[in-house]
Amino acid sequence: GPGLTLVATPIGNLGDLAPRALAVLRAADVVLCEDTRVTAPMLARHGVSVSLLPLHEHNEDAATPKLVARMAGGQRLALVSDAGTPLMSDPGYRLVRAAIAEGITVSAVPGPNASVMALTLSGLPPHPHLFHGFLPPRDAARAAELARFRAMERAGLSATLIFYEAPHRLGDTLAGMAEVLGPERPAAVARELTKRFEEVRRGTLAELAAHYATHQARGEIVLLVGPPGEDVPEAEASLDDRLRAALAGGE
Ligand code: SAM
Repeated sequence: GPGLTLVATPIGNLGDLAPRALAVLRAADVVLCEDTRVTAPMLARHGVSVSLLPLHEHNEDAATPKLVARMAGGQRLALVSDAGTPLMSDPGYRLVRAAIAEGITVSAVPGPNASVMALTLSGLPPHPHLFHGFLPPRDAARAAELARFRAMERAGLSATLIFYEAPHRLGDTLAGMAEVLGPERPAAVARELTKRFEEVRRGTLAELAAHYATHQARGEIVLLVGPPGEDVPEAEASLDDRLRAALAGGE
């Protein structure tokens, strides 16, 4: 029916496009995509001819009211990213929020997502996990972000952390993480998932930092850091709370 359908597309292996994804794209009045130069050939390969409209970081706010009006008028819109699941480090959140606010039906064809695939292959605890996406590109902002994670861990956060990272920054990021989060933290680098050179390298942050200090990483990368061990000094308040709970028979 009318409304918005979020359609996941492959993250490297074209065989991962779901049959239902194709059916929804075929039936759409308009397919919204990040880059028509990526999506048009993908649709052409499957013999789908449908009109495409760009939706990206720079036009999402301006385009959203018109797109919502189209759906309110009965059109079926589908949203795809260049790769993987829309909204996940990709455009679409503002459109989804606006559609929900207008009572428009929002649905999805689930499928490939680099973070979830990396998490399941990492050997790190699957949950709780915290998907962060990309760290800020500039050194100072990145260091501040890592310090924020460490502060949250000191306050009790114990989760596997998931980041997207560019290959030319991987070595520096791992070194920074080893310093701020701790060299002994278990971690994993998942590279080129679903593609020919798929690889998952597991080790401590120090080991991975040492490896990528001498090996230039290539391709697309997900970086995962396991939860802190018992070494994280707890905040005083949290120790007090636990002690009180234990004395009260709560533990
Ligand atoms: N929406 C996508 C998803 O669902 O995974 C992610 C889009 S984000 C703009 C692109 C980043 O995701 C890449 O820079 C990389 O960090 C990660 N990524 C995408 N495909 C990947 C793959 N095949 N292997 C490893 N990482 C991948």
